[in-house]
Amino acid sequence: MSDYDVIIAGGGHNGLICAAKLVREGLKVLVLERNDWVGGGVLTRELTLPGFKHDPFGSSHVWIHLNPDFQWLKPELEKHGLKYIWSEDHITGHPNKYEGQGIIVYKDVDKTCDTIAEYSKADARRYREIYEEFGEIKDGVIKGMFSPPAPPSYLYQALETTPEGMKRLRDYQLSSRQFTLENFENDHVRAFILGWAMAPQHLPDQLGTAAGFYVMIPSIHYYGQAIPEGGSGMLSVALRRYVEANGGTVRTGATVRKFITDNGACRGVRLEDGDEILARQAVVSALDPFQTFLTGFEDDELPSGFKDTVSNFSFGDITIARVHYALNEAPDFKNGADMNKTAFQRIFGTVADIDRQYQEIAARQIPSDPFLWTAAWTTMDPTRAPDGKHTLIMDTFVPVDLANGEDWEAIGPNYCREVLLKQLQNYTTNMTEDNILGEYVETGPSLARANLCFHRGVTTGGERTLSQMGAFRPFPNYANYRGPVKGLYLTGPSCHPGGGICGMGTIAAGEILRDLGAVDEDDFDF
Ligand SMILES: Cc1cc2nc3c(=O)[nH]c(=O)nc-3n(C[C@H](O)[C@H](O)[C@H](O)COP(=O)(O)OP(=O)(O)OC[C@H]3O[C@@H](n4cnc5c(N)ncnc54)[C@H](O)[C@@H]3O)c2cc1C
Repeated sequence: MSDYDVIIAGGGHNGLICAAKLVREGLKVLVLERNDWVGGGVLTRELTLPGFKHDPFGSSHVWIHLNPDFQWLKPELEKHGLKYIWSEDHITGHPNKYEGQGIIVYKDVDKTCDTIAEYSKADARRYREIYEEFGEIKDGVIKGMFSPPAPPSYLYQALETTPEGMKRLRDYQLSSRQFTLENFENDHVRAFILGWAMAPQHLPDQLGTAAGFYVMIPSIHYYGQAIPEGGSGMLSVALRRYVEANGGTVRTGATVRKFITDNGACRGVRLEDGDEILARQAVVSALDPFQTFLTGFEDDELPSGFKDTVSNFSFGDITIARVHYALNEAPDFKNGADMNKTAFQRIFGTVADIDRQYQEIAARQIPSDPFLWTAAWTTMDPTRAPDGKHTLIMDTFVPVDLANGEDWEAIGPNYCREVLLKQLQNYTTNMTEDNILGEYVETGPSLARANLCFHRGVTTGGERTLSQMGAFRPFPNYANYRGPVKGLYLTGPSCHPGGGICGMGTIAAGEILRDLGAVDEDDFDF
């Protein structure tokens, strides 16, 4: 007989937050994690020098603060060491090497519009309009994000009955590039908006991605941006402590290889060392769909043709080249003092520069004049480095495989030094060799080794194409967090709403509790 009601495969923040919601209801939960630590993509490590705490993967915490379950959980996690530091005023900087002082996204929308107006008053007005419209849709957005996805026709039925709704539906069909060009006139503003929209790894010309603008722009002003004191991984550390303090078990160094079925239902898991563990009520896979289904089940344990559906799931072909620096001093931007008050910068040249980078990625070439994301979180959280010192993350998007056969692991250090650093030097005064005390380079191969769910080094848990979003994520007919085998539940970035530090593991937990009759019918249903 099993000791556990629920077994969760994968101890990333989603597996852990799923466990947190279940232990709160008194269920006995076991989380199994392959690494000797928990957290997956939400981790903090001294990668360069002692005392310099870097977030190897996810670092900016925006979306989790919208998660309705995080409202009760956050105070509990604070008792276990989690403390958020908010970007009170300056949030992101968008430096410009071509003209002007660049754009700053402040928490305050008025101040943000003022910096946009330096480039175009009309663009500032349009930005504000997009922000203001959010008030009417924000409850629906949160509900849509943290509930099982609505049927594909739901959005159409909701919007098609009014002229305004029809216009909005038409906008939603656009690509990010089309939306940007249609709505904004100044090239620097356009690069700022389009570059921001590229964060979830949409392709600029991917149709149907424009809906994101109506969420991305207002959310940052409504909800802000935060980082945990001491490093991103403090979220995972606190989640583990909460789960264990409430009767849950977290076992590290435990690689799940197979899901055990009996009489058409999933009963437990088999570990790499052969150990078999059974669950009384449910098994959750917080792993990627390839591990879960292609290797985790035998063909005859799944519906006919199911593995073909899984094989068609696309992770995409983009990964990152990233360097973590230990610095003597934080970057000093040429764009004026205000830019230095932003901890996080998105550095995009022009729309033509963005187009060129995506053309190079499509041709599987090394980006020659790449955009950059940089973050010196130590400017917000000095506890992450020795007194007065700083850390910096700098990265860009690159193709997973290179047409010339070169290996990112071999060329990554030189690329970061000769291309990324040189690019940053265009925008800063002090990013010289003598400011750099230590470096650690991360590319696709090292990402894939660190976490088996970063398939081929892809950071998103699967492409966010129309065919893999909402009711189609991860697969049509299985977007409700239930697998094709009774008793098996799914969570993680390959499920709706996708990747990011948003704690969407709470949605699967809610579905389990509902199936067990442990909660009232959820009013979050569509
Ligand atoms: C470089 C990078 C930067 C990012 N930046 C941001 C950011 O700034 N903000 C943001 O919101 N998001 C960011 N993300 C995305 C975010 O980190 C992920 O979407 C998120 O971590 C997914 O959480 P998860 O718990 O679902 O999965 P994961 O974090 O992938 O966790 C899965 C866990 O399962 C474990 N595992 C894998 N295989 C097995 C197995 N067979 N048996 C047992 N355990 C197994 C893994 O070791 C891991 O701990 C970034 C991601 C990357 C890679």
